[in-house]
Amino acid sequence: MSSTTGVACPHCGWPDGAEPFQVLSAHHTAAGGTLWTRCACGSLQARVVDGHGTRVVSRGRPTPAGC
Ligand SMILES: [Zn+2]
Repeated sequence: MSSTTGVACPHCGWPDGAEPFQVLSAHHTAAGGTLWTRCACGSLQARVVDGHGTRVVSRGRPTPAGC
């Protein structure tokens, strides 16, 4: 079964199931919540938290640190 989100960051390999590298903001909803996190490689991620756990629904591109 192919997945649109994968199980790890395609940029740095950080496992989606692991603790987020950095949590930018968290929004609680009736169904659970939404987490905006930044990966170790700098890519922005949107995670949805529900009764089944956490899944990455959107993933941005890595942003290089500095220039
Ligand atoms: Zn990453």
